[in-house]
Amino acid sequence: FLAGSLHLASEFDAKNILLSQLQESEERYRSVITSMTEGVVLQLANGQITTCNASAERILGLTPAQMMGRTSVDLDWRTVQEDGSPFPGEQHPAMITLGTGKPLSNVVMGIHKADRTLTWISINSQPLFHLHQSLPYAVVTTFTDITERKQLEEMLRNQAQRDRLIARTDGLTKVANRRCFDQRLQSEWPTLIERQKLLSLIMLDVDYFKRYNDFYGHQAGDTCLVKVASSAARAVKRSSDLLARYGGEEFAVILPHTDAAGAIAVAESIAEAIRDLGIPHQQSDVSEIVTVSMGIATVPSLGTSPDELVALADRALYDAKQLGRDRINCAVNQMKSPDFYPVVE
Ligand code: GH3
Ligand code: MG
Ligand code: MG
Repeated sequence: FLAGSLHLASEFDAKNILLSQLQESEERYRSVITSMTEGVVLQLANGQITTCNASAERILGLTPAQMMGRTSVDLDWRTVQEDGSPFPGEQHPAMITLGTGKPLSNVVMGIHKADRTLTWISINSQPLFHLHQSLPYAVVTTFTDITERKQLEEMLRNQAQRDRLIARTDGLTKVANRRCFDQRLQSEWPTLIERQKLLSLIMLDVDYFKRYNDFYGHQAGDTCLVKVASSAARAVKRSSDLLARYGGEEFAVILPHTDAAGAIAVAESIAEAIRDLGIPHQQSDVSEIVTVSMGIATVPSLGTSPDELVALADRALYDAKQLGRDRINCAVNQMKSPDFYPVVE
């Protein structure tokens, strides 16, 4: 009997030791999970949350009671993808991992909290398997709060966008600058040539502007240029058109898919818009108000390059000045002259 009870006692002790070791081990793991700065959530095969740590509560702004039993497909999460569209519940990494048994990493998700703020998290999901089972019995999801990183990224993106815009905008008139004009013409050119598309260019120059500056002052000159630019910009209507400050008191307009007649129509509406401004110009020989002269050139014409197109329009503008200013002159009319129409064999 004694021997038997001794045997029982030692079996009892061994069980106890094993239990307390197990308990210790579980507490150790629990404290690891509790102390993690990453949020940790455990979901069972049916998707329901059964465990979460303090970081998960902090990041998601929810109490354990609010999380327990909920699944990823619960609409209350109001989750979004990076492009702002809703994040379908069944696409949540935990649900995918439960369905496929495969882990996922760095899945970005936005969560609208109860206070309406948007928190961004980066999620990893890891399946848990019982021995010899092909589908997981649970999934552990760990996630970090990347809201600050996302905000910083957005700030940098906005800044870069602003920088790009500034680099392409004229400081005084706020229309596109010369660099933007050059880039646009260069980038339009290959498709233009390949597909035999039409493109017209208007060069515009304010008449007797030196006299305007001398008489009204440089500041008034600046104001005049701003007004001329914004009137011209309003007259240039298609989104593919580009009005740019070419330099000084000269502006250029790129008109893709536009023939000479179309370009003349645009030039006329620019001239009218500037005339409508009615800016007094006492020193002008051609009018009481500020006027402009314009030269127009149109491609395709064999052998032309962007530089030649600009030269053609410039030459037409020069002729408009010679012909008396306050007028539109079209290089197309002179295209028959070999000077204007380089022939390529
Ligand atoms: P034309 O009718 O032949 O075009 O004569 P113009 O006097 O307009 O031509 P010119 O090229 O001799 O003079 C251009 C003037 O434009 C000279 C320059 O002082 C002035 N100008 C160029 N850029 C600016 C600017 O940003 N602000 C001001 N206020 N004036 C400018
Ligand atoms: Mg000029
Ligand atoms: Mg001028």
